Amino acid sequence: MTGLVSRLRQLRRSDQAIAAAVRETLVESLYASPRSLVIGALSSGAITAIVALMSADRLIMVCAAAIVLVAAIRIVDAARARVEPSAEATARKTTRREILYRSGALCYSALLGIFGLLTLVRTDDGVLQLLAVTTTIGYAAGIAGRNAGRPWIALSQLLFASVPLAIGLFLSVETLKIVLAVVILLFVVAMMDITLQTYGVILKATLVSREKAAIADHHAAVARRDDLTGVANRTAFREQFEARMQALHYNDDRLALHWIDLDRFKEINDSFGHLAGNALLAGVARRLNDAFGTEGIVARLGGDEFAVVSTVRDHDNALAIGRTILTLVEQPVHHDGRMLRVGASLGIAVAPRDGTDADTLLKNADLALYRAKDGGRGQMCVYEPVMDEKIERSRDLAAEMQDALVRGEFHLVFQPIFDLAGDRIVSCEALLRWTNRRYGAISPAEFIPIAEDNGLIVTIGGWVIREACRIASAWPTDVQIAVNLSPVQLRSANLTQLILGALASSGLSARRLELEVTESVLLEDIEASLAALDAINRLDVQTTLDDFGTGYSSLSYLTKFPFQTLKIDRSFIVDLDQNPASVAIVQTVIDLAAKLGMRTVAEGIETQAQLDQLRRTRCDAVQGYLLAHPMPASSVGAMLADGAAVRTRSGS
Ligand code: C2E
Ligand code: MG
Ligand code: MG
Repeated sequence: MTGLVSRLRQLRRSDQAIAAAVRETLVESLYASPRSLVIGALSSGAITAIVALMSADRLIMVCAAAIVLVAAIRIVDAARARVEPSAEATARKTTRREILYRSGALCYSALLGIFGLLTLVRTDDGVLQLLAVTTTIGYAAGIAGRNAGRPWIALSQLLFASVPLAIGLFLSVETLKIVLAVVILLFVVAMMDITLQTYGVILKATLVSREKAAIADHHAAVARRDDLTGVANRTAFREQFEARMQALHYNDDRLALHWIDLDRFKEINDSFGHLAGNALLAGVARRLNDAFGTEGIVARLGGDEFAVVSTVRDHDNALAIGRTILTLVEQPVHHDGRMLRVGASLGIAVAPRDGTDADTLLKNADLALYRAKDGGRGQMCVYEPVMDEKIERSRDLAAEMQDALVRGEFHLVFQPIFDLAGDRIVSCEALLRWTNRRYGAISPAEFIPIAEDNGLIVTIGGWVIREACRIASAWPTDVQIAVNLSPVQLRSANLTQLILGALASSGLSARRLELEVTESVLLEDIEASLAALDAINRLDVQTTLDDFGTGYSSLSYLTKFPFQTLKIDRSFIVDLDQNPASVAIVQTVIDLAAKLGMRTVAEGIETQAQLDQLRRTRCDAVQGYLLAHPMPASSVGAMLADGAAVRTRSGS
């Protein structure tokens, strides 16, 4: 008995300490089996009604009526609990439900107990008394197990039903009935013990299953997070995005998908290492998440691609978000004493106009992104429902390019460059050609930008340098080889080793190699470009500024950069024989280059008049269809072996 009391005390403490979520599960267990509640209510309701009618006692009848009424209310309450989804249950709701259940249960038990007491006291009919006693005791026994999840309710019900019954039996002053009363009291003690034990088992099972569910939830959350940046990964993005698209069917919202691709990320990775690249990705993700993560979805779709999903009013709103994203991405990220900067290209699609399901919207945002990248870096583009063959072709070419080198689809042609003073070939420019199995011959003007975008230019360009050096090593030693170098290659990490490797394996002397870079390298990341050009010059390899005049660099840049040669762009040569302004520009450039100690080469000479004019401007060398078209390695080799009598002299 003392053990029971101390367990009851312990129960009071532990019941207050259990977490709200566990309590919620236990309260739910009260409603778990409405069938037993209904059967219990119907059978005891029926028996009490019969006993009341047979007894013809008004008090018993009132009590029986009250029992039927409470039973009906409890059935309605249980039915309502089934309709309400438990997921929505809050702590307050749980408490309300528990109070409701407890009131009904205690009221019902007390009424049954009183009903038993009244039957024992106010009737002499042994059968009616038997019916009342067995119904009440049966109920009390059943309840101990059924409601053990909330032990205070179960224990109170047990006492409320049994104690009045025992009192009724004692009041009869009949030996056998007094014995039965004692037995009932012992039964109450035993049932209390069983209830407490059952409660312990239920509580333990609930806690274990909660713990398991929490661990499973944790694993599921981790599997949905991008390790590097902490934002949603592709899987989570897909799920959340689909849910948002579905919800769109039920309201008038518009949903904007911004697909973000970082510009020049690969360069940062190649130049400063993976840790710098990772820091940059994490920095960009954090900023996007701070700005859009609360209301919308921010995810890393892999590599340097991110997506932001947000609710918008209209397309202008989506564009404004796009501008914010570009600004956020462009802010520098500090890493290891460096300021890392990237830009971004953005593709935007807005549901429902640009698609009513996740797949269509993703496809269209991707198309818009492709178009944005096509228009240059740092651009954003809203999807427009126009079929774009050019985009399809660019994508196909990008895919075909992956293994083009392995399939041997690339080869080099060479265009001679002639010295105007000595009328001989001083150099040949290596020009890359791609003949694809599906698309045939593709112009470098088309495929080089694609290779620059997907980073393949580093591998392909490496092959070009090695191949050009190999072929040129068979030429006379006073003929140089000029190789075009993309800005991406110029800033790639192991350019120096690559050049040294190509020179060593071909046996070509360093001073015979010239690398041509375009003016755009003077505009972005000047420090890195300057360092790379210096490193090339230190190897004794020459550098040429290609296509001079097409960019926007000022002449003053020329003083800063260590070029040995300056190539005047074809656009100034085209109207050289008709436009005095072009003559003046070309003359100025040649004079300035001479003052800075640079050679000049004019490219794109197509007419004799252009050549004659250049001769008057004292240009050092010329290149163009008039003199020689780009030709295969074998032809240029034969031409050089012949000692190629050159026809640059006017009228010859
Ligand atoms: P670029 O370096 O300015 O090369 C000169 C381009 O002008 C070549 O076009 C050449 O065929 C063309 N050309 C030469 N003479 C004349 C002429 O008299 N009239 C006209 N209309 N055009 C002339 P191509 O071979 O189509 O190359 C285009 C551009 O592609 C090159 O311009 C260069 O920027 C790039 N490129 C070519 N090969 C490579 C390469 O191996 N690596 C890199 N990074 N870029 C390359
Ligand atoms: Mg060139
Ligand atoms: Mg050029």
